[in-house]
Amino acid sequence: MNKVLIIEDDLPILDNIIDTLTAEGFLAKGAANGLEGIEAVQTFVPDLIICDISMPGLDGYGVLHQLRNNPATVNIPFVFLTSRIERQDLRRGMESGADDYIPKPYTRSELLKSVSMRLKKQEPYKNLQQEYERVSHSDQLKTEAIRVAAHDLRNPLTSVSMTLYLLIRVYGKALPPEVLEKLNRIEAASNQMEQITSEILSVDRIEMMKVNRSTEVFDLNEIVQAEFDNFIGQAKQKDQRLRFEKPAQPTLIQADPIDIKHVVLNLISNAVKYMPTGGYINLLIKHEPQQVLFVVQDNGCGIPKDQQDRLFEAFYRVKTQETSTIGGTGLGLHLAKKMIERNRGKLLFRSVYGKGSVFGFWMPPAPSDSDNGSWGTEGDLSINQFKLV
Ligand code: ADP
Repeated sequence: MNKVLIIEDDLPILDNIIDTLTAEGFLAKGAANGLEGIEAVQTFVPDLIICDISMPGLDGYGVLHQLRNNPATVNIPFVFLTSRIERQDLRRGMESGADDYIPKPYTRSELLKSVSMRLKKQEPYKNLQQEYERVSHSDQLKTEAIRVAAHDLRNPLTSVSMTLYLLIRVYGKALPPEVLEKLNRIEAASNQMEQITSEILSVDRIEMMKVNRSTEVFDLNEIVQAEFDNFIGQAKQKDQRLRFEKPAQPTLIQADPIDIKHVVLNLISNAVKYMPTGGYINLLIKHEPQQVLFVVQDNGCGIPKDQQDRLFEAFYRVKTQETSTIGGTGLGLHLAKKMIERNRGKLLFRSVYGKGSVFGFWMPPAPSDSDNGSWGTEGDLSINQFKLV
């Protein structure tokens, strides 16, 4: 049932409108002046407001002004009730955001026609708004449920991992090989679960720590080299060519090394994970006068353009045929972006569906290096090639 609020100081007119609308099945409520009207909007939450222009105290323009300045009431359709003398003011009313007007005196059918037309025009927006509220509410619930679950799973998972660790390392040699192999598989799965829960919990931690914890000057080359060494075996298993040519000079940056290691690991791991068998993955570090550039370039499946804008949202996972069976939380890139930003850097990416992707970041070099200007120039990368996020 549609709710209509009528704000009118002429009580016989007010009663007449309420009676007419009630008889037609509307839920109608009256307010005898502007202030009363504003109060009623908050509690009654109407679908439509009909409001007289001239009223003592707060007049119709004042009511409209207040409602349009409040995000909760800005979209409620507003119709002025106006006498002939006031018509010259109509322009002012429409300019201040009224949707329509009903001239006084009005006939019953004029009133009903105007009300139902206005409500009909509003219908698609109302449905959209309701749908939006429903979806965002259920999204919030889902996110909250995932966080609670991750938090509660943490302790039991640690206990599973520790027990497995003991079983394998202490009693492993005494176990039949097929049992040991199964235990190893369970351990790999439980490590994966621990990684998922810790990624989920990191989102909250990162939100709370906008400023980076402890920064130090270190060589990015070493971090990339260590992650290259970690992933080379996995890449070989998938017949991928993982390449990294360590720059001749150190790449000194001042940042939180734990954050940077996490991001480098995540970007390489994504390239290995989402690339089908075969193909290449290049890790590149470039020194530019004011910045250090690190990128992971692959010729894998790429990401469709219409999904790229949401890539860095928490829990967002790309939906394509190629990647639908690959597991993940959709948190890696979200966390990577936050971590790079809190270290004064910028995450960058470019992806063409069917051709491949480039993910990386730039960072200011550590102060001493920018002072002596001794950067080398490896490769032919330019920052303009990449989309910044
Ligand atoms: P997760 O890998 O846990 O799903 P991420 O936030 O790391 O979460 O990645 C988000 C999505 O971006 C992934 O679901 C994947 O579809 C896509 N993606 C990330 N890196 C690549 C890549 N190198 N090639 C293709 N798709 C990628």
